[in-house]
Amino acid sequence: MEIIRTGAWMKQVSREARSKERILGLVPTMGALHEGHFSLVREARKECSPVAVSIFVNPAQFGPSEDFKKYPRTWDADREALESLHVDYLFAPSPEEVYPKGFRTSVNVDGLSDRLEGRSRPGHFRGVATVVLKLLEIVQPEFAFFGRKDAQQLRIIAQMSADLNLDARIVGCPIVREPDGLALSSRNAYLNPQERHAATALYRALDALREDVASGERNAACLLEVLQDVIRGEPSISLDYVEIVDAVTFESVVALRGTCYALLAARVGTTRLIDNALIEEDGGSFRVTV
Ligand code: AMP
Repeated sequence: MEIIRTGAWMKQVSREARSKERILGLVPTMGALHEGHFSLVREARKECSPVAVSIFVNPAQFGPSEDFKKYPRTWDADREALESLHVDYLFAPSPEEVYPKGFRTSVNVDGLSDRLEGRSRPGHFRGVATVVLKLLEIVQPEFAFFGRKDAQQLRIIAQMSADLNLDARIVGCPIVREPDGLALSSRNAYLNPQERHAATALYRALDALREDVASGERNAACLLEVLQDVIRGEPSISLDYVEIVDAVTFESVVALRGTCYALLAARVGTTRLIDNALIEEDGGSFRVTV
């Protein structure tokens, strides 16, 4: 695995791969890698060779009072894990390389970026879209892989890619969970043992919704009640938002129709976690994937 620190060198490597008609895949990450990230790498390996993984903790997507400074950084373990997954290139630029002095351009996906995560974290999606656009421009992959764990982010990146005629095909991948259902996240490292236990309520809430949908419930208000009831049962969790939205517009729905997401954001102690379930209409019935 070659470690690449500069955009210029990454572009050169990518140009060479394309000239040999190889299919370059990119998995963008912020490091502190776990099975969720590795699942994206495995998906990339199935479709692409070579595979590049980027590790960049993007300051532009953190608010002033957020955890940029203390965000977990586990470089040695990340490098070793990617090596053993036979990743070809690890692109790990410095902040100065990504945002040189005088940098003043950003990209915003209007509307989609203002709701839900965007409302709770002003400027977050502008930072995400800008860095992803830069990574796609530098790496020029044929395919780029993102987790459905960050469903709104995935939707925003797909919209940006369509709007700006980007070449990379955006691939969404399933959520990887711990055996007790907690969605893997680099931020789970912040949880103490009690919080770690309480955090399973997010999954339990989505699983309760799945059962309710299976027994015929279609009304969004009733389904939201089910989600809220489970979360309320955990006093150490405070809900930020819970919504059922259309999977394209990310606007709230009154009743299930087509493809929707049930989206949750909550604080467990001081740690903010998000999770979701994908709800797909399937010949008159609905399938819920958590
Ligand atoms: P991050 O390092 O948190 O920015 O995440 C990098 C990529 O990994 C994003 O596309 C995330 O959606 C994805 N990801 C994070 N956690 C998971 C998970 N539990 N399952 C699947 N993908 C994930």
